[in-house]
Amino acid sequence: MTLAIGVDVGGTKVAAGVVDEDGRIIAKLKRSTPAASPARTEQAIADAVTELLASCQGQVTAIGIGAAGFVDSARATILFAPNLAWRDEPLKQRVEERLGREVVVENDANASAWAEARFGAARGYRDLMLVALGTGIGAAILIGGELYRGRWGMAGEPGHIRVVPEGRLCGCGNRGCWEQYCSGNALVAEAREFARRTPEGAMRLLQLGGGVPEGISGPVITRAATEGDPAALRCFQIVGGWLGQGLADLAAILDPACFVIGGGVSEAGDLLLDPARAAFERALTGRGRRPLAEIRVAQLGEDAGIVGAADLARVSSQAAPIQSTAAARQTTALQTTAPSSSSGPPEPGSFIRSTSMANPATNAATAQNAAIPDTDQPAAVATTR
Ligand SMILES: [Zn+2]
Repeated sequence: MTLAIGVDVGGTKVAAGVVDEDGRIIAKLKRSTPAASPARTEQAIADAVTELLASCQGQVTAIGIGAAGFVDSARATILFAPNLAWRDEPLKQRVEERLGREVVVENDANASAWAEARFGAARGYRDLMLVALGTGIGAAILIGGELYRGRWGMAGEPGHIRVVPEGRLCGCGNRGCWEQYCSGNALVAEAREFARRTPEGAMRLLQLGGGVPEGISGPVITRAATEGDPAALRCFQIVGGWLGQGLADLAAILDPACFVIGGGVSEAGDLLLDPARAAFERALTGRGRRPLAEIRVAQLGEDAGIVGAADLARVSSQAAPIQSTAAARQTTALQTTAPSSSSGPPEPGSFIRSTSMANPATNAATAQNAAIPDTDQPAAVATTR
């Protein structure tokens, strides 16, 4: 049994754990993040890893970091992190210098999606999307069992799709972004606004929130809704409705088999997902004539980032180095265009097979595909193996 260490770096805390091959955390610790200082955050990461390494006596084969920020396509540099002081920060290099060991860096939502696909709510699915509702929307895309990162590592930010022209102002500077209507913050804003406008209808929410609208938090709304409070249920209806409509738009692009809904808001379970499923079915193009994607609650909770970062690092360490994989994929794209000019585009399946044979470095991607068990798409496996 080999072990891997996963580190989840957020705006307020560094959580690290030792994870076995079945995705179980066997040791775990937390540190607060000195968010204002890149160097001190990196030291906190290195200290946490060092402490865990000391406890497992050389059984750790890989170390992965899931970071709340935009990770570049080489998975080495954090280009920008909204809640940390990282700007063009060479995180991989800085942590490796401190540890004297290789580390793998990944976006935290990507790490969580990987964990849910391997060990959690989306086990067995190869085409899926994680949508995590918190302060905003965190998201990640898996296509054919592989994380889809985009050309520059920026893929999977649907929180900033504009759903309302000239709508609510978003932290990104645009107006009407999806996460302004569908997130933990949106849920709380909805409840507080209702309590201000109609205090007599929001008595339970106000009671649980200490008597003032500002005291109404996400957990307060979930608790009131669980008790059957109509005002709280209405807030979940509204946010769930926005969620379902947005998922229908995403299905129009990606046609995934499964959506995994994570983040604090998802702890309300079907109180959120029932209205989301109803809105999804109403808004989906071709409804009634196509299979419906599953909409499920994430299973791994706050551990998903640790488990996913560790498992991605373990999978990478067993295959080719990540950098060569990225380079191989670019070559792959260039090769596709060449034959298509003379003899039409090649079959995707035959093309993937020929590049894996021609270039062993692409085996990292193949190993990742093989790592996720297939249940829903046998055809996809046949072409990528
Ligand atoms: Zn935005």
